[in-house]
Amino acid sequence: MEFQKIDLKDTNITDIFRLEDLQQLQDAFSKANNIASTITDLEGNAITEPSSHTTVCALVRKTKKGLDKCRKSGRTLGLMSLKQEQPSYMKCQSLGFFDAAAPIVIGGIHMANWLIGQNCIGDVDEDRIVCYAEEIGADKEQMLQAFRQMTVISEEEFKQKLDFLWLLAHQIAVLSYRNLSYKKMVTLLEKSQLRLKEYKDNLEKTVKLRTRELTQALDEIKQISVRDGLTGCYNRRYINEHFPKEFSRAKRYKNPISIIMCDIDFFKKVNDTYGHQCGDYVLKEVALALQLSFRKDIDWVGRYGGEEFLIVLPFTSIRSAVIISERVKKAVQDLPLEYDKKQMSVTASFGVSGMDQWDLSEDLTWETILNSSDIYLYKAKDEGRNRIEFGPAMKK
Ligand code: GH3
Ligand code: MG
Ligand code: MG
Repeated sequence: MEFQKIDLKDTNITDIFRLEDLQQLQDAFSKANNIASTITDLEGNAITEPSSHTTVCALVRKTKKGLDKCRKSGRTLGLMSLKQEQPSYMKCQSLGFFDAAAPIVIGGIHMANWLIGQNCIGDVDEDRIVCYAEEIGADKEQMLQAFRQMTVISEEEFKQKLDFLWLLAHQIAVLSYRNLSYKKMVTLLEKSQLRLKEYKDNLEKTVKLRTRELTQALDEIKQISVRDGLTGCYNRRYINEHFPKEFSRAKRYKNPISIIMCDIDFFKKVNDTYGHQCGDYVLKEVALALQLSFRKDIDWVGRYGGEEFLIVLPFTSIRSAVIISERVKKAVQDLPLEYDKKQMSVTASFGVSGMDQWDLSEDLTWETILNSSDIYLYKAKDEGRNRIEFGPAMKK
């Protein structure tokens, strides 16, 4: 990530540093360098409390005239700093003590000035002090005594202290700007991490949704592929695949199993009399009646051929299958059929077969049961239709 530029146009120095930290730094600097110091804004208003102010200057500032001149000096120094963004120094307008200002420039914005000074570099004598005390109306004796206690330093030494201050002010400005930039980078990183997480969550949600849709679609396709389009019963493919499985399971566990082959009587006549569409309608109605006539989750019905249906009844003896057939036969016969405002009715014939006692017929196959039910169905047709014929599965 690139180094982030920060716009500090409306930022104050106290938005960047804690005031206590600035004060501590300034106090420590003043003490170590034995120099008065304070930090002001660009208008010359104090931001920190002054550190190590000299008694002479304090006496001067006690008088109105002295304070005015002091402030004037401060403003001039501030203006000099403003123009060059470099440390500047000059003699004060009161007693000619040395004062200096180091600008604090953060991110190209001049935010404050760090002032040092009230230093006598040896060119001020006691006469000047007395004269100035008279001029501003200060106590001459007190001023002289305070002046005598002041440490005199050379101009060179003063410049060294100013260099140190400038370096310090410059370094804290650079470091704080870098710090702000890192902070911004961290915020940006956190934001992009959040966006990434949102994106990931959304992606996961979408994948879940699509997977669900896909599973549903697959289920639908599976259903379509095993169902007969007209009647909704299982199709011949399903019968061919599942009936042998159902049969094997029954054989393995020696459970009874029965099947009912059901064929609509004289169906050709329905087509011939009322048309093919009416025939389709009747087929659908009969299929529905069949589906409603047995146990939902265990028994099942498939369309074996044109108007012929196969009902598979696991765990069901032939005797029970016959009872069920009676119910189905009645349901078909009683079907209230109406097509094109014409009432009609149909009947069906049934061939029931199955296996109750496996011990006696270990070599029985599913084809045998199917053939047997077909044989019983033909018998029912032969014997007048709308009837049920049944018997155990038998080899031809
Ligand atoms: P039976 O009592 O001996 O069973 O006589 P049937 O007329 O029902 O039997 P047949 O085999 O002579 O005729 C069956 C008819 O079923 C012939 C065929 O056109 C019709 N059929 C088969 N599938 C469909 C279908 O999907 N829709 C319609 N409308 N008719 C069909
Ligand atoms: Mg028929
Ligand atoms: Mg038929």
